[in-house]
Order: sequence, then C-alpha cells, then structure tokens
Amino acid sequence: RQSAEQLRILSVLNDLHLKYKPLTDGKVADYIPQLAKVSPDLFGICIATADGQVFEVGDYDYLFTIQSISKPFVYGLALEDHGREYVRTRVGVEPTGDAFNSIIKLDERSKRPHNPLVNAGAIAMTSIIKGTDPTDKLNRILDLFQRYTGHGILADMSVFMSERTTGHRNRAIAHLMLNFGMIDGNVDEALDLYFQQCSLMVSCRDLAVMGATLANHGVNPLTGKRAIPAEYVRDILSVMFTCGLYDYAGEWAYRIGLPAKSGVGGGMLAVVPGRFGIGVFSPPLDERGNSVRAIKVCEGITEAFGAHIFDVA
Ligand code: GLU
Repeated sequence: RQSAEQLRILSVLNDLHLKYKPLTDGKVADYIPQLAKVSPDLFGICIATADGQVFEVGDYDYLFTIQSISKPFVYGLALEDHGREYVRTRVGVEPTGDAFNSIIKLDERSKRPHNPLVNAGAIAMTSIIKGTDPTDKLNRILDLFQRYTGHGILADMSVFMSERTTGHRNRAIAHLMLNFGMIDGNVDEALDLYFQQCSLMVSCRDLAVMGATLANHGVNPLTGKRAIPAEYVRDILSVMFTCGLYDYAGEWAYRIGLPAKSGVGGGMLAVVPGRFGIGVFSPPLDERGNSVRAIKVCEGITEAFGAHIFDVA
C-alpha cells in the first residue's frame, strides 16, 4: 500500500505529464546528425528520493544519450583524481552566460576555461581523468556512471561516431586550449573520451537516481554504495546551480531554483539537496538547447513541493 505522500508525488508527476504531453514547441537537436532521428513525442519523468523511493511516468526507461549531463559527474571524478586545489588551477567556476559550445570566451588571463560545464571546461576536465591508457580512462568513466546509476552503462556507437566525425567546433575548442596551454597531452585522445562520455545511454530514471545520489551526499540510495566522496558534492552542485543551463542559467536559478544540468539529447537532471533527484526526458529543445517540456516539468515540481532552494518552509 502506498502512503499519502507517495500517492501525492505520483499524482503530481502524472498531472505534469498529462499537462505537457500536448506541448509541441521546440526542435530536436540535429547538429549531431544521429541525434535528429529520435522521436519528439517521447516524454518521461522520474523522481528518486534520497531514501531510495522511485516514482516514474511515461517513457521513463527509454534510453537516450546523456550528452552534457555527463559534465558535472566527470568534473567530480577529476576532483576525486586530483583534489580541489589542482582542479581549480585547470578550470574556473564562473558562469559565462554563453551558449554551451561557445568558442570565444576562453579566459586567456587565468589560463583556464570559465567553468566545467561549458564544452571547453568539460573537455579540459575529461583530459585530466587518470588512467594508464584510453581504455582504462573510459573504463573509469563507465565505472563512475555505474556507481551513480547502480547498473552497467553502454555507449550509443552511432551517436559517438556521428559526433566524432562532425564535432569540428569541439575539435577547434580543444586545439585552441592546447595552444593556450590550458590542456596538455593528446588532444585527439581527450576528444574521443569526451565524445564517448557524451554518448553514454541513460534513461530519465537513471538521471533521477544520479540526482538522488547527489541529494544523498554522494551515496546511491538504491545500492547504498558511495559514488563520489561527500566533500565534492558541494562543488558539483554549486557549478550546476550557477552554470548548468547554458545561457538560461540565471533565469533557471531564479524560477526553478535548483542545481541542474541539461543535455542536447533531451535529458534534464535536477537535484533537491537532501530530498530527491529529478530526471526528465523530452527531446525537443528551445533555442538555447534546453528541453522545453523538461523546463516546464521542473517548474511544476518546484511549485508542487516548495523545492526552490530559497523557498522558506
Ligand atoms: N556532445 C555535445 C557537445 O559537446 C554535448 C552538448 C550538450 O549536451 O550540451 O557538443
């Protein structure tokens, strides 16, 4: 039997799904050719609580590529690998207000990209992940997502190949950073690893569980296993709060008020610290690259549960 609280969460999710299913605004991403093939009708919502309860509706187990939502997690792995002091010398924490793939704003003075959630910063973080060779590094990233989701993760090979052969802008960003001394080592290897991490397949249920793991101070509430040292959860959530939604980050912080990260695959992950993780999947994106339905759903969830972090209970 479900408690009143459980029934309420389910009914909020069902209502939001029903309300926004007919919304057809936005456009499925097509700058990675393979992404354009996904159906715009897919729509799933999931909440996973910090004590391990999972509530889901719609296409909650449909697998799509994680894309940029991988960035805060790989940032966490870089922190785990090198410690805060070193990582801070390789990436800032300053929001840019720019598009995700902005090429113009590299902070030449401080010799580091602005933050780990724009592509420049994300590629810089991926480039410092420890490992004896490319396979070992990929395995460490797969292990990371296995800890966060609670199960093994696979990559979508055609999305990977599609981005690998068309990702000229990311290639340019990486080479520019090499030129500025912001990354060192093998650029092509770092790009391959970055494209691989972006093409990992998750469901919105996985995103919710990953969010719940952050909400639960780094311990996956379904497996009871630690995914990230507790001391770095704060770093991850802070940059998600200020830089998680491209050039919509300020508006998002004001209206929804939660650390979050969106991806061009149509996924959105948000965290209500101490309480729950939210995962939404709906491929059509607005002009900034954020899922249209996911923004609406998160706004609805914030309102229904007083979840804005500055809501005073
Ligand atoms: N793989 C994509 C890129 O680097 C991720 C972009 C995103 O989700 O924002 O262009």
